[in-house]
Amino acid sequence: MSDAAGPGSLSPPPAEVVAPFRRPPGRALMLGHVHPDADVLGTLLGLGTALEAQGWRVVYGGPHPAPGALGFLPGVERYGVLPALEGRFDVAVLTDCPNPGRTEGLIDQAHASSSVVVNIDHHPDNRRYGHVNWIDTEAAATGEMVYRLLVALGAAITPAIANDLFTAIHTDTGSFRYSNVTPATFQIAAALVTAGADPAAVSSALYERRATDSLRWLGESLGRVRVSGDGRVAWLALPADAVPEAFIEAEELVNYPRSIASVRVACLLRARGPQVKVSLRGKGDVDVQRIAAKFGGGGHPNAAGFTVAGGLDDVTRDVLAAVELALPR
Ligand code: AMP
Ligand code: MN
Ligand code: MN
Repeated sequence: MSDAAGPGSLSPPPAEVVAPFRRPPGRALMLGHVHPDADVLGTLLGLGTALEAQGWRVVYGGPHPAPGALGFLPGVERYGVLPALEGRFDVAVLTDCPNPGRTEGLIDQAHASSSVVVNIDHHPDNRRYGHVNWIDTEAAATGEMVYRLLVALGAAITPAIANDLFTAIHTDTGSFRYSNVTPATFQIAAALVTAGADPAAVSSALYERRATDSLRWLGESLGRVRVSGDGRVAWLALPADAVPEAFIEAEELVNYPRSIASVRVACLLRARGPQVKVSLRGKGDVDVQRIAAKFGGGGHPNAAGFTVAGGLDDVTRDVLAAVELALPR
């Protein structure tokens, strides 16, 4: 459902999504996906903080730790690695998590130990694994959706919560530059700034806290960018030892090959032990989620990814062949 603002929405979530949080305060789990990014962390922290203010006890965590680069998110020190879930939960919330596989088994434990599992997501390929599923593919980030949920709950949006949600939206929209941005994105961002989010501080925390050596690593990485003969595909294949893992986590390296004018599909391939993690980006004319799905991954039409077993050279060849097939003749 869309409102007068056009694509995207400011409308409240369905009643069944709001209901679990209107019950008397109990114990809540905010469960993150693998290799958590700012959208999942910002929304879990923002929602959990608002629930705590209403008397809930909240556990935050997932299969992997929050990356150091997102250490500035308010409340992130509460987010930890959960080897297993302990005790019962009145509600378990997952945000930005399209499929159960992206919790490394924690979703099964959440189903066993929680009265209600709430799945809040904006990925078109969401598997609807919750008791309650709120999937809005028009939302640029789940940050927009959690804002709408907090408004429906009448929750006070403190500056800490506002900065968490603003960062979620900031990163998933590439700093308000991608095609997923709608009028609602700006309206929600404006409301968050009114509530105390600090755009300059968020931008600075995201983009002006590079490690001293990072420009050298950037040079090392960019020297490996290759472009196809017709200019439509650019890729960057990084061997495991080329640059530090934390550097790759902190940079959206795939945006460099994507920034070439002729490029329709950009690929980042990074070796990680016996596996290769692949990020794909499009510009509207190729649905990269369908390419990722062929390799068991997923995502959005213009941003998708997957991880496969194999050597870097072999995987690069297979991915480029799949991209070639997907390009218009
Ligand atoms: P990334 O390239 O890792 O930044 O991911 C881009 C998009 O693809 C995000 O929306 C991810 O949720 C999605 N994605 C990345 N890896 C996977 C995967 N292994 N399975 C499903 N979706 C993925
Ligand atoms: Mn995410
Ligand atoms: Mn997201």
